[in-house]
Amino acid sequence: MSGDGLPPLREVIAAHELRAKKSLGQNFLLDLNLTRRIARAAGALEDHEIVEVGPGPGGLTRALLMEGAKRVIAIERDRRCIDALQEIEKAYPGRLTIVEGDALEVDMASLVSGPARIVANLPYNVATVLLVGWLQSEPWPPWFESLTLMFQKEVAERIIAAPGAKSYGRLAVLAGWRTQAEKLFDVDRAAFTPPPKVTSSIVHLVPRNEPLAPANPKTLEKVVAAAFNQRRKMIRASLKSLGVDAGALITEAGLDPQERAERLTIEEFCALARTFDAMKGT
Ligand code: SAM
Repeated sequence: MSGDGLPPLREVIAAHELRAKKSLGQNFLLDLNLTRRIARAAGALEDHEIVEVGPGPGGLTRALLMEGAKRVIAIERDRRCIDALQEIEKAYPGRLTIVEGDALEVDMASLVSGPARIVANLPYNVATVLLVGWLQSEPWPPWFESLTLMFQKEVAERIIAAPGAKSYGRLAVLAGWRTQAEKLFDVDRAAFTPPPKVTSSIVHLVPRNEPLAPANPKTLEKVVAAAFNQRRKMIRASLKSLGVDAGALITEAGLDPQERAERLTIEEFCALARTFDAMKGT
């Protein structure tokens, strides 16, 4: 037994024949001490509903419940995991809601009824798509009070990077614009079954009440993606792909056409996005 009256995760995996599938980004955490540490990193849980993407056999789900989460709403795509999760539901009556489906298609905001947090050991193949979707939530501030997420370490570094840093790019701009993001700790690859190729890291993001500067989120994403698509070039070259007069866009935004994307601040990208919308008449 594991402190919650449920069998150890290794037994759960064997009993339900949950051989990890690479196509679903399955790398399971079986150490409840580690999953409880991740659950605690999310902040106060008692008054919060937690949306968990990809519970798998339920290691993090159990940790969230053991640490006192008011309710966990767990979205899992792999049918094989649902029976295992139902056993957890029985042990915590009324506190676990299992949603079988693709997290990319589920309307998560509609599943919660009060203060909420998102906590997940994300499937690596959809991790950044999910993060960008959460960062583009409307209205802002969003329906969640925080995001506590596992990424490959290299992706975590791209999320928290500052202007000028090697990892600074689209993810850092989008995350820093609307949230305060920090890396909390690394998780060795040996902690997973099966072990992935690289180290992972937990990142904690707290939405800002006001973004760093005004901008339309879709336009900002578009401008940032164009700028970093050719990150070593001057922005007067890389922004040509936006289909407007790049020189006029940059000077009207008050920037130097010889600047490179990796040196622009988030506020400067916002100025480009606002000017782009004004030029397009939107
Ligand atoms: N939370 C578990 C843990 O920490 O041991 C499993 C984490 S594993 C890295 C990712 C999980 O996400 C798998 O259970 C996988 O089946 C699930 N998954 C993959 N793609 C998904 C999607 N699009 N929507 C919902 N779940 C998904």
